[in-house]
Amino acid sequence: MNAEWNFDNSYARLPDRFFSKLSPTPVQSPELVILNRTLAESLGLNAEALASDESIAVFAGNRIPEGAEPLAQAYAGHQFGHFTMLGDGRAILLGEQMAPKGERFDIQLKGAGRTPYSRGGDGRAALGPMLREYIISEAMHALGIPTTRSLAVVTTGEVIYRETELPGAILTRVASSHLRVGTFQYAANWGTVEELRTLADYALERHFSGFEEAQNRYLFFLQEVIRRQAELIAKWQLVGFVHGVMNTDNMTISGETIDYGPCAFMDTYNLATVFSSIDRQGRYAYGNQPYIGGWNLTRLAESLLPLLHDDEEQAIELAQEALSEFPNLYQQHWLRGMRAKLGMYTEEEQDIALITDLLNIMQTHEADYTNTFRALTLDRLETMPLSCVKEFREWHERWQARLQKQPQSTDEVHELMRNSNPAIIPRNHRVEEALEAAVERGDYSVMERLLQALSNPYAYSPEQNEYAEPPAPSDRPYRTFCGT
Ligand code: AMP
Ligand code: MG
Repeated sequence: MNAEWNFDNSYARLPDRFFSKLSPTPVQSPELVILNRTLAESLGLNAEALASDESIAVFAGNRIPEGAEPLAQAYAGHQFGHFTMLGDGRAILLGEQMAPKGERFDIQLKGAGRTPYSRGGDGRAALGPMLREYIISEAMHALGIPTTRSLAVVTTGEVIYRETELPGAILTRVASSHLRVGTFQYAANWGTVEELRTLADYALERHFSGFEEAQNRYLFFLQEVIRRQAELIAKWQLVGFVHGVMNTDNMTISGETIDYGPCAFMDTYNLATVFSSIDRQGRYAYGNQPYIGGWNLTRLAESLLPLLHDDEEQAIELAQEALSEFPNLYQQHWLRGMRAKLGMYTEEEQDIALITDLLNIMQTHEADYTNTFRALTLDRLETMPLSCVKEFREWHERWQARLQKQPQSTDEVHELMRNSNPAIIPRNHRVEEALEAAVERGDYSVMERLLQALSNPYAYSPEQNEYAEPPAPSDRPYRTFCGT
């Protein structure tokens, strides 16, 4: 049976500086533990064939499929504000799968062995974190948030060494590309202007149709990335997603969420929410994400200056003008999303105050973010811990009065709210439970059930009820880790 790989390798045709050609390091005895059949089909792959030994060898890096030209990508990045050379230290791009409709998707093996960019790292990944990325990235996709996807996880049959010995694994990651802000920083710092231009042209060609009509195609490029990131980060905020490590190498040009290391969803609403054990200053706290987005985009703009205009001052002016749009664009997306979450079809001046008042009440009274909107959607005030809070009851009356001002019926309001407020999110304690069953006991059924429930977060089905339960107080605070 043929897996139907259909590779092209456009990235490999960029100047040599942007990558190192090399094959994955083979592993001992790979086993497929999870395969994303729906995603496989949409990529034009044969899901049945992907479960064969031959395909498992591909997912493990033991066999290079026909047409693939494996490589590790070079990039730089600001990590917690400090600029450094990075690159794929444990990931190998096999090539680009050309899907049936002509779309191009990077197929990348994460945890596939050392590369010239590994520095001190072992090039490997542990099973738990790869399954975690699988669950959360697929949940994000189902929530309607642009993201890299997860095609498969294989165990390697090898042990890797972190604080303890852990089972090794490789994740096959799918992305519309792995171009990052850090790729441009790398080009600007170590490449020639011609190489930077080649990279920008490549990104335009790959992601931004319509650039041919633009007066200044590199300004258009910057504006488009700004637009996509504003929308993406607004979507994160609306579902309570904390990325956790918004370094510039972890911000894509395509506008997809990437790098599911220390990320997690917030239970209790709090702007200061941080899960990552190394983020001691709260640089990447929930409430800071929009500002960090703007900071990262400024780093992109700086890298693009030589392309924006021959005159540096004019280039800076163009960049600043484009960047100044980011807060507005972000605010527009966020406000539109918040209005939808509260069933508002029309726009009133007082909406912002109404929304922020609710959020402030949630923050003061430590309300669960997802469940507050879920209960409002279901109109189950009596189930809400907030229902005994006087300010909240007053807020609720104001909100009801606001809804009366629009022509839409109650049914229409509830429909909008159901489509805008997920009934469930991948709650940390449920994700951990699924990972423990899989990693400790080889039982993947808990994870399969969780994935099933998360595959349609707006369903409001009875099977989802159990996943809506917030964690027991003993499960808090939840901590996540980098470099897993
Ligand atoms: P991240 O925090 O995942 O964005 O990773 C930062 C950098 O460290 C990237 O260049 C990664 O490729 C690299 N890296 C992370 N883990 C490993 C590892 N186990 N071996 C080699 N490189 C790694
Ligand atoms: Mg990264």
